[in-house]
Amino acid sequence: MILLRTDQLTKDFGGLRAVDKVSFVMPEGIILGLIGPNGSGKTTLFNLITGFLQISGGQVYFRDKPIGGLPAHKIAEMGISRTFQLVRVFQRLTVMENMLLGYKNHVGESPWMNIYHSRKYRSQDKEAVTKAFDLLDLVGLKHLANHRAEKLPYAQQKMIEITRTIMGDPELIMLDEPASGINPTLVSQLLDYIRFLKEKQNKSFIIVEHDMHVIMNICDYIIVLNHGAKIAEGTPEQILHNPDVIDAYLGGS
Ligand code: ADP
Ligand code: MG
Repeated sequence: MILLRTDQLTKDFGGLRAVDKVSFVMPEGIILGLIGPNGSGKTTLFNLITGFLQISGGQVYFRDKPIGGLPAHKIAEMGISRTFQLVRVFQRLTVMENMLLGYKNHVGESPWMNIYHSRKYRSQDKEAVTKAFDLLDLVGLKHLANHRAEKLPYAQQKMIEITRTIMGDPELIMLDEPASGINPTLVSQLLDYIRFLKEKQNKSFIIVEHDMHVIMNICDYIIVLNHGAKIAEGTPEQILHNPDVIDAYLGGS
């Protein structure tokens, strides 16, 4: 089954073409890596798929439905969840409150927090809290549930942001540079977690990442952008030996 497909997807910022007629097909159940030099259009492509930017041309299909032009919250409701290149957790809120904001994609307008405080859970609300505890437990952060996010180191905040995306039960999770600023031990924990979500919970991923070890280690398939255009795609093995890719990274083009 095809999960996501883009057709000639394009984004212009004034005279600059940041994403240039990118077409690709993504089957469900894989981890897709998106790589390319700085400024090659990776984050912009993320923003087009998730509705954070308006498309200039082309289309995005999620399970065969065109989603280009839909607002970000609609796309999130349909089952695409994302993180940001720079961590976006709510600093003044506790870890649990941050998690509850991700429930059923109620990002930014959640009634769940108040409910959590009032301690009068309805069954559905209890479900959200239980789910949050379970997910936090899985990543070893359950004991920090009542700590304010701002008190935690960057790596843990990042982990919370990623864990929060699961709260809404998305089919597709998009991570923009999840490993940046995280020490190697936590990176390997993070990779184990992503594999677990793929294998045990049938989640699919698109991952933008600078660290080639991470990409080669975890991705089933890779797409390479350069100057906004797709210049290669294939398995990690194929990408490693692709002369165009080597050129884009080392040739200074
Ligand atoms: P990457 O994530 O691969 O580093 P980006 O998608 O952030 O690349 O950027 C691609 C190109 O688009 C860059 O030249 C960048 O300067 C430009 N760009 C990104 N966002 C904007 C914006 N909001 N307005 C104008 N130009 C932008
Ligand atoms: Mg980027």
